[in-house]
Amino acid sequence: MAKKQFKAESKKLMDLMINSIYTNKEIFLRELISNASDAIDKLHYKSLTDENVKVNKKDFQINVSVDEEARTITISDNGIGMTAEELENNLGTIAKSGSSVFKEENEHKKNIDIIGQFGVGFYSAFMVASKIKVVSLAYGESDANVWESSGIDGYTIKRCEKDTYGTEITLFIKEDDEDNNYSEFLHEHTISSLIKKYSNYITYPIKMKMHKSEYNEETKESEEKEVIETLNDMVPLWKRNKSKITDDEYNTFYSDKFFDYEAPIAKIHTSAEGLVSYNSLLFIPSHAPYDFYTKSYEKGLQLYSNGVLIMEKCAELLPDYFSFVKGVVDSPDLSLNISREMLQQDKTLTTIAKSLETKIIKELTDLQNEKREDYNKFFESFGANIKFGIYDQFGMNKDKLKDLLVFKTSLKDKSITLKEYVDGMKKGQEAIYYCCGESIDKIDMLPVVESIKEKNYEILYCTDYMDEFVLQTIGEYDSKKLVNIAKENVDLSDEEEKKQIEEKNKDSKDMLDFIASSIDGIESVKFTNRLKNHPVCLVSTGDVTIEMEKVINAMPTDEHISAKKVLEINANHKIAEKLDNLYKNDKEELKRVSKILYESSRLIEGLSVENPTELTNLICEELTK
Ligand code: ADP
Repeated sequence: MAKKQFKAESKKLMDLMINSIYTNKEIFLRELISNASDAIDKLHYKSLTDENVKVNKKDFQINVSVDEEARTITISDNGIGMTAEELENNLGTIAKSGSSVFKEENEHKKNIDIIGQFGVGFYSAFMVASKIKVVSLAYGESDANVWESSGIDGYTIKRCEKDTYGTEITLFIKEDDEDNNYSEFLHEHTISSLIKKYSNYITYPIKMKMHKSEYNEETKESEEKEVIETLNDMVPLWKRNKSKITDDEYNTFYSDKFFDYEAPIAKIHTSAEGLVSYNSLLFIPSHAPYDFYTKSYEKGLQLYSNGVLIMEKCAELLPDYFSFVKGVVDSPDLSLNISREMLQQDKTLTTIAKSLETKIIKELTDLQNEKREDYNKFFESFGANIKFGIYDQFGMNKDKLKDLLVFKTSLKDKSITLKEYVDGMKKGQEAIYYCCGESIDKIDMLPVVESIKEKNYEILYCTDYMDEFVLQTIGEYDSKKLVNIAKENVDLSDEEEKKQIEEKNKDSKDMLDFIASSIDGIESVKFTNRLKNHPVCLVSTGDVTIEMEKVINAMPTDEHISAKKVLEINANHKIAEKLDNLYKNDKEELKRVSKILYESSRLIEGLSVENPTELTNLICEELTK
């Protein structure tokens, strides 16, 4: 019998599969098993809708076996089967779903793209097999047929014997070559673990004949035994009824699947029906994985279509700021044959991603409200991620995320949210105050903190280098400005006092300008009310603050920035008087004293002193006067 030729487009595809540079060859098994599962689905459906079809649901199964010597893998099912005509139509040409996409494809696209574009299906078996034999008996028919092909030059279809309905596919595995170890697919354990990995939640049992060696007590020798094992779990946890799942089950599932020794801090189990149906089971880990803050960390959720794993890490399902979330999404609305490029435009996926995001925010908010201790632990691990999400993309997502922030403060022992801050604001307090520094202790020592504390206003302690960028991005909360107290013009004094200091600054303008011009790297010098016991402080004016200068300059890049610095002098301190006197009587001495004050204010801020020797000599000179 003459060989039949594949349809032109199938030929192209097959060519791609045979000469595949597709690295993920192992997915052929997933494809064949899900075809088998679909075929059983069809028969099952038929039995429900046609009373002449009598099958026992309990008998449905998929069998896999490996023959290392013959170099074959066989996958059989007792599904609907195919007639000769169906073998011709289904396997002689690309399945309709695939072909339409294939046709739309531009010729010039690279091979690898085409494979990715419409998924792989039956033909993927040619990535590992040099010959494929499909024996099939369609349900209700008496004649079985065998379809056989060694690839591109065509296929044959012949009558054959098969007693039971269903399909049996035999792959004749290619010989190993320099680049490929095809023989690994002939090992039982490789095949069984691939089935567990990709097809664990196929709803029919996948059985495999396994060879196990067992120790025989009597003969005192180990014997090889054949056992038939069911490899898949079938009903996935995420499809089970929430109320019947114990915490232990959730935790075991989580640790098995995501290799975490610690139980998750929260889980989100949902099943949605409507425009898009899906089941999802998400987890918030209780600690960051060791590689979380490195480039090698890949975000994403496992994506299933009706129990069949499509993708290990579907990044499109999670925004970057929730990249720590682990979990599984299963939707019958997703096509198995979906590629990464198509995913990005897939509406179903976007809809799912949006609703998952809302659920994650809600879960975190509940955790924050109900289990603050746990939430703080979460925030310690992943707060940086949320903060990054706030200032990333010019603050596009700040409104969604700002309530997830928590801070330590000057008034309370525990961490608080921005909302809690605003709720606790004192009468007359107009702004939300924050201060940045290396540690709470260091912030507390800053002279600028004093006057705010005296008013009993709360200060948000910002000890994370990102905090300042984050709060600047947020700008205001609940119509209250977020104010960095280490910036110029933070004056809590009353109108009268404000007027007085303005006058004083005006009267002393010449002297202040003189001091400013004698010190390098300073924008201006002025008297202030905000210092109570401290003589001076160094603050910034403009967008770049002193903390930012420190943070940016400490980064291992060439970028260096400098805050515009203002030296503020306590108008009510003895030093103010002294400066006045020196300006009148000894300008050289004024320069020296100002220099000491300026350098000291740099030290208070944690900035370095350019010439410590000079400073020490200056101080000594003053001490010995
Ligand atoms: P897809 O599964 O995306 O349609 P495939 O190339 O994998 O594409 O399969 C082509 C067609 O062949 C299927 O749509 C199905 O009709 C038929 N088919 C494949 N495997 C089986 C099977 N085990 N039993 C019955 N029909 C099958």
